[in-house]
Parts: sequence; C-alpha cells; structure tokens
Amino acid sequence: MAKDNEITLALVVPCYNEEAVLHDTTAKLSEVLNAMETDGSISSGKIIYVDDGSRDATWQIIKQLSAESNRIIGLKLAHNVGHQNALWAGLEAAAEMKFNATVSIDADLQDDIHVIADMVKRFAEGDDVVFGVRRERKTDTFFKRFTAQSFYRTMSWMGGEIIYNHADFRLMSLRALQALISHPERNLFLRGMVKSIGFPSSCVYYDRKERLAGESKYPLKKMLNFAFDGITSFSVKPLRLISSLGISCMLVSAAFIVYGLYRYITHSVIEGWTSLMLSLWFIGGAILTSLGIIGEYIGKIYCEVKRRPRYFIEETTASTKP
Ligand code: UDP
Ligand code: MG
Repeated sequence: MAKDNEITLALVVPCYNEEAVLHDTTAKLSEVLNAMETDGSISSGKIIYVDDGSRDATWQIIKQLSAESNRIIGLKLAHNVGHQNALWAGLEAAAEMKFNATVSIDADLQDDIHVIADMVKRFAEGDDVVFGVRRERKTDTFFKRFTAQSFYRTMSWMGGEIIYNHADFRLMSLRALQALISHPERNLFLRGMVKSIGFPSSCVYYDRKERLAGESKYPLKKMLNFAFDGITSFSVKPLRLISSLGISCMLVSAAFIVYGLYRYITHSVIEGWTSLMLSLWFIGGAILTSLGIIGEYIGKIYCEVKRRPRYFIEETTASTKP
C-alpha cells in the first residue's frame, strides 16, 4: 500500500445537466482536497468531471473550471450514456492516470464529502475498497426510501452481492479499480461488481443530504430500469423461479389426479371436468418445467458471454516470483 504522504487521489464525478451545482460542488470538493493536502493525508488530489452528454452549460462550466485550476480534469462523452457508464468512463480515466486511490461521488453532493478523509485513512491502513454507506434516509421522500429499500431486499434475496444502503460513493485502490475495469461486460451494475471483486474492504457511515440544487436525474422509470438491470445482471434466480413454478404446478397436478379420479369414481362431476382439469394442470406444469430447463441453459450462456474474470489474486508470497 502507498505510504500516507504519497497518496494521489482522484474524485470521479459524473455530471448530467448539472450546471446548477457545478460551481458549488467544485468549491466544496476543492476545500476537502486542500485540507487533506495540507494535513499530509494525500500528496495531491484531482477532480475528474465526466460530462454525460449534458444539454445545458455543464461542459462549458467544466472547461472554464479546468482552465482556472489544474485540479480539475474534464471528460466529455459524446452522448448521454447513463450514470453507470459515465462513472465507468471516469474510473477508466483515473486508472489510466494511475491515481493510487479513486473516489466516485455524485455531482449533487448528497453524499457527505467529509467522510472522504475517513475513506483515505482506511485506504492508508490497507483497505482496497471503502464503501460509503447511508446511515439514514431522512431527507428522501417516503416513496424513494420505500422503493430503494425494497430494491436492496429483493437484490439480496436474489443472491446479488450488494451492500445495504450503499450507492456509488466509494473509494477504490488502483488495483481494485484495475480489477473492476477488467470486466468486459456491457451491463454495468457497479455497486454489485465492486463488491464481488473481493480485496480487503470496509464501510464508512454518513447521513445523506438534500440535493445541492437542480432535480434528481433518476425519475421512477430510470430507477425501475436500474433495479431490473441490477437484478438481471447479477442473478439467474428469476430463471430458476420458472423451474420452481413448473414443479409446483406438477405437484398440484398430481394432487388433482387423485382428487379428480376420486370425484370421477364417486360420480359427482359433470362430464369432461376431470380430463380438462387434469390436462390443464399437467400441461401447464410440463410447459413451465421445460421453460425452466431452457432457462438453466440460458443462465449458463449468460454467465459465459459475460466473460467475467475468474479470480483476482490478492497476495502472493515472495517465492512465486522468478
Ligand atoms: N447522471 C449521469 N447520467 C445520467 C443521469 C445521472 O451522469 O444519465 C449523474 C448525475 O449528474 C449525478 C449522478 O449521476 O451526478 C446521480 O444522479 P442524481 O443525483 O440525479 O440521482 P439521485 O441521487 O436522485 O438518485
Ligand atoms: Mg442525487
């Protein structure tokens, strides 16, 4: 790990139509970086703004800010690719520039920038990934809180590796970042991917604030899409559920065979009911089970096409070196 006074830090900030907050955000982030440089916890800090194809003056502001200060690095994407992809672009740039540590944070500074210093401290103590975790969601509406928490619950039930109440505010060491960007997949769900990399990690807790200005760029439709993407890019459980449903139907059909035949023998049925009922449940069950089996294969194909790296080596003993 880098020695305390040698740490170079990058803050990666995706921006989509954020003209209302950029000046304020820059002032606040610079203040944090200045303080850390002064107390020696980092040797230098930069801010990488990624303009995600904004339609307002975001890019003009970024250009102007970077002309005024060499702390600011700007990256303009040719069109809007969404938060996760924009963040990825910034992270790739940070890895290329070989910053020892990289923190990703939203432009609206809803996440508490004062815990960045704690993150760096954890990093200096040897953690590769430090997750920022929201302690409470008082400032979010009941609706946002409810939908978000249902999402985390569903996700963990589906077996996705995810940290409860952690969004995309986190610190990553260079090697963790390199491990992350070695994932060739297109469907990005960064908070899950980072967790699945491994490497020593820890959490810092903070209270989430209100947006500095402007409005949320995550309306309900995007939120639902994001949640659905998260689940389907991490779990084949929905496919497995089809098999379970099919088997349940077959079991019901077995029960119906017994019940139907009993009713048939005791002559208390209208003609045709027994055969209809039996075939309905049996065929339904058979179709679902077959779909489930096909689903198993699709699940395998899905894991193969992702071509995710199989493992990351955390440490080796000196003897492995030639
Ligand atoms: N963002 C982005 N591209 C998009 C949507 C959002 O880069 O298509 C950025 C946005 O500028 C912000 C971050 O992603 O820095 C999170 O968005 P927002 O704060 O609106 O989401 P919320 O906090 O409401 O979930
Ligand atoms: Mg926000």
